[in-house]
Amino acid sequence: MGWNTLDDLDLAGKRVLVRVDINVPVENGAVTDDTRMRRIAPTVSDILKAGGKPVLLAHFGRPKGKVVPEMSLRPLVPALEAALGVPVSFCADCRGPAAQTAVAALEDGAALLLENTRFHPGEEKNGSELAAEIAALGDVYCNDAFSAAHRAHASTEGVARLLPACAGRLMQAELSALEAALGTPDRPVVAVVGGAKVSTKLELLGNLVEKVDHLVIGGGMANTFLAAQGIDVGKSLCEHDMAPTAREILAKAQTAGCEIVLPVDVVVAREFAANADNDTVAADACPADAMILDAGPATVAKVAEVLAGAKTLIWNGPMGAFEIPPFDAATNAAARAAAELTRAGQLTSVAGGGDTVAALNQAGAAGDFTYISTAGGAFLEWMEGKTLPGVAALAR
Ligand code: ADP
Ligand code: MG
Repeated sequence: MGWNTLDDLDLAGKRVLVRVDINVPVENGAVTDDTRMRRIAPTVSDILKAGGKPVLLAHFGRPKGKVVPEMSLRPLVPALEAALGVPVSFCADCRGPAAQTAVAALEDGAALLLENTRFHPGEEKNGSELAAEIAALGDVYCNDAFSAAHRAHASTEGVARLLPACAGRLMQAELSALEAALGTPDRPVVAVVGGAKVSTKLELLGNLVEKVDHLVIGGGMANTFLAAQGIDVGKSLCEHDMAPTAREILAKAQTAGCEIVLPVDVVVAREFAANADNDTVAADACPADAMILDAGPATVAKVAEVLAGAKTLIWNGPMGAFEIPPFDAATNAAARAAAELTRAGQLTSVAGGGDTVAALNQAGAAGDFTYISTAGGAFLEWMEGKTLPGVAALAR
């Protein structure tokens, strides 16, 4: 699938509707992390450089189609101006006469932020009326919110169908990284999937075994796979009812020629707590009163070996209970091995997922990865092999 970028459309003098994700954390009225705002700065800046007028569309929270004053975007304006480095005006509606006046009044070199799109019921329903009203405010549509692209909403999908559309810089970076990891990747490809449960990542595992050469299964979900092979995992987090599903995934992997890498040794403890007394044992030797909280050093060595032979890595989910040291050891070691190979130019590494990003940051490895997706749900749906409506609407 190909997409237009900002370079493909004539923006001079054009009103550019830009869907962004500035759903930032706010405490006591102050933005506590403006990362999402800073990440859209290149898009806004490039639109201005090309002579366009950026009109920003965004959601904030879940007002469910009603005006909820606490979910207004207005208080974000000062933080947005600081992050973008340009003046930002605000309009209390994302459609209608007030918005039309605000767009017409937009001065060169400035941006306009329109109020929370989710204040209108038509947003989440992808209503054609709201999409048309929003589209009337612009000449061109640019989507820079990959993280919202798994939802077919008026501002992510409907409007894209009504105007010449393109991907913003952040969306462009995200799409090329994802394309490099699972679209047409350099092989061998290894996927590392960890985290708590198989049940939340079933479709993802099912898709990956057909696309990657090696699948490393870690974290709590590895326990389910061990148990499914008849291994006693004691008091470990384990979804025993998922055993048949786990066996199906193993069989599917075998048919597809995908090597499954499960823990060969594990770190066990009697309590889920930082610095709990622990032992390293073989994967089939978890004591009945203990739980598996991390993969052991022999497993880490195996993962490092697989990574060393790979050209592409896609990672979601920590290898163990990384929040409570020392059960972050396997995640840290694998993350650092991937970081080093990436730095050496041997590996393209892409990772995503809320806890995964936290774990890679904690390991000091995130900066060396080729791409870290902060998109959450959209990243997971993409790993599941699904078509994201907001991306499909940009296809040329
Ligand atoms: P992400 O947010 O990156 O998609 P998940 O939410 O699926 O990742 O998984 C992260 C959680 O998995 C963490 O809270 C971590 O403590 C938990 N976890 C990993 N391994 C284990 C384990 N062996 N036992 C219990 N919890 C685990
Ligand atoms: Mg999580």
